[in-house]
Amino acid sequence: MKTIGLIGGMSWESTLLYYQTINREIGRRLGGLHSGKVLLHSMDFEAVVRGQKAGEWEALAAMLAEAGRGLVAAGADCLLIGTNTMHRVAPEVQAAVDVPLLHIADVTAAAISAAGCTKVALLGTLYTMEQPFYVEHLAAKGIECIVPPEDHRAEVHRIIFEELCKGQITAASRQSLQDIIAHACARGAQGAVLGCTELPLSLRQSDVDVPLFDTTELHALAAVDFALKDVPRAALAA
Ligand code: GLU
Repeated sequence: MKTIGLIGGMSWESTLLYYQTINREIGRRLGGLHSGKVLLHSMDFEAVVRGQKAGEWEALAAMLAEAGRGLVAAGADCLLIGTNTMHRVAPEVQAAVDVPLLHIADVTAAAISAAGCTKVALLGTLYTMEQPFYVEHLAAKGIECIVPPEDHRAEVHRIIFEELCKGQITAASRQSLQDIIAHACARGAQGAVLGCTELPLSLRQSDVDVPLFDTTELHALAAVDFALKDVPRAALAA
């Protein structure tokens, strides 16, 4: 089994989801008491958020690249950045290491295409919804993002930073997210990308009628695929 290096803590609430999904899935596939070989570099999220607000993307890139190098030096065979937003600096992190960085938008695009969708609502932080890095990454794979209008974007961003990153999950915010997705679907979206790794804390597939692309789960499962790709088939329980 290969070792997964996770740059997490952005926020730690979603890093928990990564850790749980990776370990549960490896246990399911290998059986017994198997679990993942995971190295975690958990950032101090306040420092990251301050950099985001100040637009200090170069400094953030250097911070994450250093974390990535540390994980590789400690034995990581691949890297994950456990947040959609910080994929803004994915090219710099990939350039700093000689192991593959599993890009969250690549994994998400593959799932969207496999579901037969080409137009999806994009919910995430303001950085993810408004800056080009995420929308263009999906566009290059033939997927068009329906970005919510300004008031909806502000509400999703608020829910992420003021509630979900602090572990607060409310029915009112879940309803807001459902309404925002319904609005995007009326504009032609065939599904919705939970393009923020905390959003699945609030919204599940059973809460909406269209396909929901949970980037946290998809990303964690891609890491499991990577970790187990050289494990002989006979060793897999499922
Ligand atoms: N976890 C969130 C994301 O997936 C937001 C936290 C951050 O700003 O990195 O974008």
